[in-house]
Amino acid sequence: MSGPVRTRFAPSPTGYLHIGGARTALFNWLFARKHGGSFILRVEDTDQARNTAEAREAIFSGMQWLGLDWDEGHGKEGEHGPYFQSQRTAIYEHWFEKLRASGRVYEDDGAWRFRFERKPVTMKDLVCGEVTIDYRDESNTPDMVIRRSDGSFVFHFVNVVDDLEMEMTHVIRGEDHLMNTPKHLQLFEALGQNPPTYAHIPLILNADGSKMSKRDQGAAVHEYEGRGFLPSAVNNFIALLGWSPKDDNEIFSAQELLERFSLEAVNRSPARFDWDKCQWLNQQHLMALSPTEFATVAKPHVEQSGVTVTADYEAMAASVQEKVQTLAEVPGMIDFYLKLPPVNEEILGKVRKNNDATVLLQDLSNRMEEIADWSLAGDSIAKTAEAHGLKPGKLMFPLRVALSRRSGGPSLDEMLAILGKEESIRRVRILTEELSGSTENQ
Ligand code: GLU
Repeated sequence: MSGPVRTRFAPSPTGYLHIGGARTALFNWLFARKHGGSFILRVEDTDQARNTAEAREAIFSGMQWLGLDWDEGHGKEGEHGPYFQSQRTAIYEHWFEKLRASGRVYEDDGAWRFRFERKPVTMKDLVCGEVTIDYRDESNTPDMVIRRSDGSFVFHFVNVVDDLEMEMTHVIRGEDHLMNTPKHLQLFEALGQNPPTYAHIPLILNADGSKMSKRDQGAAVHEYEGRGFLPSAVNNFIALLGWSPKDDNEIFSAQELLERFSLEAVNRSPARFDWDKCQWLNQQHLMALSPTEFATVAKPHVEQSGVTVTADYEAMAASVQEKVQTLAEVPGMIDFYLKLPPVNEEILGKVRKNNDATVLLQDLSNRMEEIADWSLAGDSIAKTAEAHGLKPGKLMFPLRVALSRRSGGPSLDEMLAILGKEESIRRVRILTEELSGSTENQ
């Protein structure tokens, strides 16, 4: 390899950043950063119908959210611009002229065809190995149109011209482009240029093996942001769509991905998209945050849901940090602190099955009144149960329901601490009354 590594992400604006595109961007970014090279963002926006400001913005914002910064491209002018194909027509004209002068294109019904060299063409792909296309039989491999009769250039031509003009050393892209590459090699040769090294990364399939479409869950990057995934978790997840670290570890920060990523460790077989795994990975990344960091990243989701952020918010958030898979779950798990939710008959029914619940709760609230140092409130659970010759477990579920109306959630100690003495006792009394049939105190 001569000179520094240059890779690029070359999306066509479709209105959203697809998870497959994000993975292509990530692999190119990782490869460039790992080798101290440059990562270029080139927008392949020759399809005017789809080329809207919103569609372009979806790409930029998706990449920014993932932290995939580019060295040249929109907002980062470099030596090889412009970085939008729609602004590069003069450059295409120049290279097209070269082909015409050398007799490699001919007119056919107003369009222009590129004359393939009639020989086998072999590419050495870093992931797929050697792939050969035999161009000797013209009936299988007719000369390709590179310029339409309306004057516009075809993808293959502009893609190759840009890669050579922008001095790309490596092209990492989806396997759907594998069969285009011999055509591209023919073009490089005809233009008298060295081609980049190619690496085609495996397709991404749904869990059931079907092809992923735009409407499938997890197809669009902005969906992850809205649902409360961390960018680090999404990068980790998409890195594993096709790349294997070769050991049992699956949880990687961006820094660890940079250290460990290599194209040699990219699989040949299609990757399976697994939403559950994505959520699990997000949970692992959330758990690795400090409580303060967790509260900070959860805050916009809490505010957006309408749950008030109070002085106790950080403690509230910390109490559910290990319980949630996504940040969007946080408001629904801490709202009970602020306002006692209505009775849930199903959960109440479970409490009723415990014949001792009413007496235990009654006694507990009386003992709680006597507690001077509320940080020891949890001790009263065991003491109350013991006084009735019962195990503390008998009281834990009724108390949980009393404090939160839910069957799961933060630890009892955290709930007691955050709710404080007065409110905890009030909630225990309310449930006691509900269980004994009187509801007037709600
Ligand atoms: N615009 C093409 C695509 O989105 C780029 C292919 C390439 O990376 O060469 O599929």
